Amino acid sequence: MAELLTPDICVIGAGSGGLSVAAAAAAFDVSVVLIEKGRMGGDCLNYGCVPSKALLAAARRADAIRKSVPFGIALQFPTVDFAKVNAHVHRVIAAIAPNDSRERFTGLRVRVIEGAARFTDRHTVAVGDIQVKARRFVVATGSAPSVPSIPGLADVPYLTNETVFELTRCPEHLIVIGGGPIGLEMAQAHRRLGAEVTVLEAAAPLAKDDPECAAIVLDQLARDGVAVRAHAKVLRVESGEKLRVVVAGTNGEEAIEGSHLLVAAGRRANVDGLGLDAAGVRFEPRGIVVDRRMKTSNRRVYAIGDVAGGPQFTHVSNYHAGLVIRNALFGLPVRARYDAIPWVTFTDPELAQVGLTEAAARQRHRRIRVLRWPYHENDRAQAERETRGHIKVVTARNGRILGVTIVGAHAGELVTTWTLAIANKLGIKAIAGIVMPYPTLSEIGKRAAIGYFTPSLTSPWLRRIISFVRRFG
Ligand SMILES: Cc1cc2nc3c(=O)[nH]c(=O)nc-3n(C[C@H](O)[C@H](O)[C@H](O)COP(=O)(O)OP(=O)(O)OC[C@H]3O[C@@H](n4cnc5c(N)ncnc54)[C@H](O)[C@@H]3O)c2cc1C
Repeated sequence: MAELLTPDICVIGAGSGGLSVAAAAAAFDVSVVLIEKGRMGGDCLNYGCVPSKALLAAARRADAIRKSVPFGIALQFPTVDFAKVNAHVHRVIAAIAPNDSRERFTGLRVRVIEGAARFTDRHTVAVGDIQVKARRFVVATGSAPSVPSIPGLADVPYLTNETVFELTRCPEHLIVIGGGPIGLEMAQAHRRLGAEVTVLEAAAPLAKDDPECAAIVLDQLARDGVAVRAHAKVLRVESGEKLRVVVAGTNGEEAIEGSHLLVAAGRRANVDGLGLDAAGVRFEPRGIVVDRRMKTSNRRVYAIGDVAGGPQFTHVSNYHAGLVIRNALFGLPVRARYDAIPWVTFTDPELAQVGLTEAAARQRHRRIRVLRWPYHENDRAQAERETRGHIKVVTARNGRILGVTIVGAHAGELVTTWTLAIANKLGIKAIAGIVMPYPTLSEIGKRAAIGYFTPSLTSPWLRRIISFVRRFG
């Protein structure tokens, strides 16, 4: 029999964003219906962040063994059992899954419904024979791999992030279409676990990042033996005994043969079948159109996370969830700001960014300062033999921190201090003045910050003050 539910909040999609809204709303004793058509946990847990980081962790272990000799440890030829690596990846997913499970959310008194949700009008969502009329709806349906229309691609068994973590045998030769963060993370992981890997990128790899720092990642990939082909336009894919990917190279057409093909060529927002027109929710190719409160063109409906067309990261989905909770439950007029959202490519070395890149800062500010400090000048980096990379801090002339790029070991952890600084509009003095524990990699940030003051250390004024104090002080 048809059922009518009238919760306060109805969340569509139980991924990073949807789960955060549901958990927070339930904590405030608000009635919540959560609808999920696939796996609880969404992309991040099942097909994204978690399996990719688990695979990279295994790859890093293999690499550490290969690089053990300089530490005085003789072991250097790891045997990779890919089926066991795959089992490790799935054990990691399983370890985290209870946090996102139907059982946990039911325990929080969230009504979890399995099925595909679709708006039937501006106030109603249908899932199977259940109708939901909520005070507020939150669309958190995420994104899916965007598959370019390459002739022949549909006729071959290509992989995406939704299938690549199912492989239990190491690909002989993995061809990756797409040289963005996902493509390169997967490329390095598979290479270090024993595959031959070729990456085909139509433009420049890691194009959204600082090119000087991205070059260090690309150099390491080349050292690992990953062939990254920039400006390689894929013309067609042919099947045969092996897969053949034909690209337009500088000398005309060139065919690259491989055993597996991974498409990592961007994402598209999951809006199909949602009945957004019926709900009066406007959307564009990049996603649902939202204002800075994450409200759509239907004031009852919010959209968050990947489907909202902004930066596509789990932490952004969580951030959006927090905004929606404050807006929808407390009526607070909080608005999204993106100037302090960090992002990290988890290759080795890691590449982390928060705020403006140098190029973006030069476009917006007439005069900037760029401060650098290399990992090889850091004692901990030397001890760990992690000396590749550097930090680059971009400030306004008055010392306000505009952006930070870090390429090197643990860059993703190191960038958090700078995220705090930028979010709170701190000046460079704040970082230069803190005492950092020794020996830690975080000291590279402080050393870069001190660099801001170096020119003034040699100023005639300062010299005069020093000699005055020396004589009369
Ligand atoms: C390989 C890979 C690696 C990544 N690594 C990172 C990383 O290291 N760090 C990071 O921050 N981000 C990473 N991301 C991005 C991150 O996974 C996403 O930004 C995040 O999952 C988005 O969360 P979301 O809540 O918007 O959507 P999702 O987590 O995708 O959840 C959306 C959910 O909605 C469901 N759904 C869709 N339509 C309907 C419907 N009509 N009815 C009911 N349910 C529906 C889907 O089944 C899905 O479960 C990675 C992504 C990929 C692909």
